[in-house]
Amino acid sequence: SKVLVSGANGYIAMWVVRTLLEQGYQVRGTVRSKDKGEFLKQYFSQIGLADKFEFVIVEDIIKEGAFDEAVKGVDAVEHVASPFTYDIKASDDLLGPAVQGTVGILRSAIKTGTQIKRIVITSSCAAVLNPTTIPTKFSEKDWNTTAEEEFKRLGEKTPVMSLYRLSKTRAERAAWDFYNEHKSKLTWDLVIINPPFVFGPPIHNIKSPKSLNLSLQFWFDAVFLAENYKTKEVLSVSNSWVDVRDTALGHVLALQKEEAGGERIITCGGGFIWQEWIQAANALPENPLKANYPDFQRGFPEILEANPQRIVTISYDISKEQRLFGMKYKTQAETTKDTLEEFAKRGW
Ligand code: NDP
Repeated sequence: SKVLVSGANGYIAMWVVRTLLEQGYQVRGTVRSKDKGEFLKQYFSQIGLADKFEFVIVEDIIKEGAFDEAVKGVDAVEHVASPFTYDIKASDDLLGPAVQGTVGILRSAIKTGTQIKRIVITSSCAAVLNPTTIPTKFSEKDWNTTAEEEFKRLGEKTPVMSLYRLSKTRAERAAWDFYNEHKSKLTWDLVIINPPFVFGPPIHNIKSPKSLNLSLQFWFDAVFLAENYKTKEVLSVSNSWVDVRDTALGHVLALQKEEAGGERIITCGGGFIWQEWIQAANALPENPLKANYPDFQRGFPEILEANPQRIVTISYDISKEQRLFGMKYKTQAETTKDTLEEFAKRGW
């Protein structure tokens, strides 16, 4: 069967496309320009998967009917495209594409996606968590409410991370509202995937660490650019994460598992403390990038000594995912090794 993947050239989406192709699906990816599509064609032909891949150009996901053509003839949709960037001029640069892109693809599905059986949308734990300093375990029952409150209070002065969280919260709410409103006449059902921080080897087209997607940028900076992260405080910060390949597999299982229909599902590999990634890199027999980064250092090992149980501030209940998908997650050591090897291949 054929699956439409939006924003196919992105960090997560490219792994979603690859995993689908590896499992024998036909994939149509949307990209914003021909160059980006050609890059994908070339990448997938190098690994022998290009014959089942095609791309279409959707320049502006905000435009009314942007996906009308793209959804024609596909059996399922993975809507991954959404801005995750600090590089914005106004709140609407995040909120607009997140919300209108999501509602737009659902509208197109009703209008012209007559074969569609299921739509999977990449939301985020950003739509689940409320920032906290007390160790808290969130589940699918939780919704981010603080981002909306902050935005009401601060408007355009709202910090960009909160705006991003707001964009994901509003987009996911809009998806559920749309779904519930039209449920009786839909040929498809909806699954929402909520990943926390996504790390792991990139396969998308990035030329240097400076142009990495945001989550990998954070990871790279923490591990290698210690001068940006001088304080013990910063490396003590904890959160939760998932490998990009597990994230992609979750998106594919979301198409395959009948019982996933109508569910929001957190896919999370575990907690982390930033210092742990430095230590994971140090623990490798050979860190292929060490020589290139003179600032690479040991960070502050005492952070972990002070927290022997590795309690993290933000963690997630994954019992729903385990019941529906039963995934086995990559470890910090595996992800670190594979990521550094991929960076080294690129000559970083
Ligand atoms: P990337 O920046 O690598 O990918 C984002 C994709 O969305 C790109 O294909 C990009 O296209 C496309 N896109 C962004 N803005 C627009 C727009 N205005 N119009 C059309 N396309 C647009 O990020 P990720 O792969 O990390 O993110 C993918 C999804 O996963 C997003 O929905 C994000 O919110 C979600 N997510 C990410 C997490 C993470 O830690 N990385 C965690 C949880 C959720 P282009 O390349 O042309 O700009």
